[in-house]
Amino acid sequence: MSQRKIYYLDNNATTRVAPEVVAAMLPFLTEQWGNPSSAYAFGSEVAKQIEAARAKAAALINADPRAVVFTSCGTESNNTAIHSALMTQPGKRHIVTTAVEHSAIVKFCEYLKKRGYETTFLPVQSDGSIDLHQLEKSIRHDTAIVSAMWANNETGVLFPIQEIAAICRSKGVLCHTDAVQAAGKLPVDVERLGVDFLSLSAHKFHAPKGIGLLYVRRRTRFQSYLIGGNQERDRRGGTENVPYIVGLGRAAELAVEHLHDENTRVRALRDRLENGVLAAIPNTSRNGAKDERLPNTTNIAFDFIEAEAILLMLDQVGICASSGSACTTGSVEPSHVLLAMGLNPARARGSVRFSLGTYNTGEDVDYLLEHLPKIVAKLRAVSPAGTFDVKSVSPELRPSRAGAARRAKGKLRIQAGLPHGSRR
Ligand code: PLP
Repeated sequence: MSQRKIYYLDNNATTRVAPEVVAAMLPFLTEQWGNPSSAYAFGSEVAKQIEAARAKAAALINADPRAVVFTSCGTESNNTAIHSALMTQPGKRHIVTTAVEHSAIVKFCEYLKKRGYETTFLPVQSDGSIDLHQLEKSIRHDTAIVSAMWANNETGVLFPIQEIAAICRSKGVLCHTDAVQAAGKLPVDVERLGVDFLSLSAHKFHAPKGIGLLYVRRRTRFQSYLIGGNQERDRRGGTENVPYIVGLGRAAELAVEHLHDENTRVRALRDRLENGVLAAIPNTSRNGAKDERLPNTTNIAFDFIEAEAILLMLDQVGICASSGSACTTGSVEPSHVLLAMGLNPARARGSVRFSLGTYNTGEDVDYLLEHLPKIVAKLRAVSPAGTFDVKSVSPELRPSRAGAARRAKGKLRIQAGLPHGSRR
């Protein structure tokens, strides 16, 4: 692997594992490798460390530690919450969610549809927000759960979870929030939010991939998703991933410490990046609300060119960013989030997400602002649509943006040594 410097502006995809987290995990890979369910001290000492990590994770979200169930990831947490709501209320077969959720919710609901369950996917407005009145009206007598993400992974747009949970409570319906993108970026307080379930994924806040948690409000009826041993107080079968649980605990402590930095320094870097791009590059616009969003995220549409071509050229100079969610990379489909916000497919395909974090500095933003305008100008130069403002031309006379972008991408693929038609 090359040792060149990486300018990592994709912290919503995943984050660097903090050195403090690695240090906390190592003893549980090398010396303290006992099974926490074993009766002897070599095991029970490990079990104590799981409980210490649970207390730290609970502190991050202001929960009772007994309400924290460790899972393998955000996806498992999301699937588990919905599955539990359906299994514990067999007469209720309807789910309310939104059109902009992560695939861990959208695809699970589509899977459930084939098994006779119904889902209402609430639309969003052009700034990515939802209409709470419409949400309230969509709740039916057979609604088992409302699942709404707190922060959108692509745009950073926030949903008012506290209000959504209050509506659910007034209707006697369970409320879940996918808070995977919120942890470490916003203060998370399950008591204030009033939700019944909340999902987190540790690789979004500087712990490794493959560990997450599901908060389950005390006294909420619960059906486990993985059935086996009686780990996690019978709420998740399977021997605990001890090193990763310990890593999550340490990362949770660091997330609390870094929260101020995220909302001041990182926010200022994000704003400088966003304002810099919008000012330096014509025909660009921000996707999503300006204020009601995460402090680290910006999603920008670059007219007349495809994001995939921009990302390829950014990669060549060591800059990591993304279009849409990382889980759908390789797909030619435009982002379902941006389409739901009413962007036309061409503009959605020309949109790039930049997401910053604790380890970013002003140098990263300067570097991007130095390279991106040149990259966009180069791409637009090979795009017939790029030499004039397409919006000033009537729709039927406009050149095909997709064709132009394909031509641009073809040139780039040759430069990058990639065969035509290959996907990355
Ligand atoms: N929910 C959101 C909003 C996400 O951004 C992600 C990851 O990208 C997930 C869920 C899935 O988390 P994991 O990768 O831990 O399964």
